[in-house]
Amino acid sequence: MGSSEAKAKFEALQREILTLGFVRPGSLVRRWMPCGNPACRCAAQPPRLHGPYYQWTYKVAGKTRTVRLSQEQARLCQKWARDHKRLKRLVRQMERLSLQETDRALGAISRP
Ligand SMILES: [Zn+2]
Repeated sequence: MGSSEAKAKFEALQREILTLGFVRPGSLVRRWMPCGNPACRCAAQPPRLHGPYYQWTYKVAGKTRTVRLSQEQARLCQKWARDHKRLKRLVRQMERLSLQETDRALGAISRP
């Protein structure tokens, strides 16, 4: 990749970042659970569990936290999480490209 090609690629990555909304780290889990009532359909054979229940799992200061979400909240969180994954991918690509281009720039200057 030539230097001007690399610059164009880098600028395309920057523009793509501008299209992202809020980014939310974490992941969504959908769960089906029994309620504990032995007369309920969830205790039948075969069991018909309650759900889906939505849970959001994320890390804060190294600790994993889980919160319950409504279906509507889950939908929003999924969108934010998708944008978070895209942001991380874009940043990794920018880092790779930058390493290559800054190596090239350093190589063009004589060492001390
Ligand atoms: Zn039940």
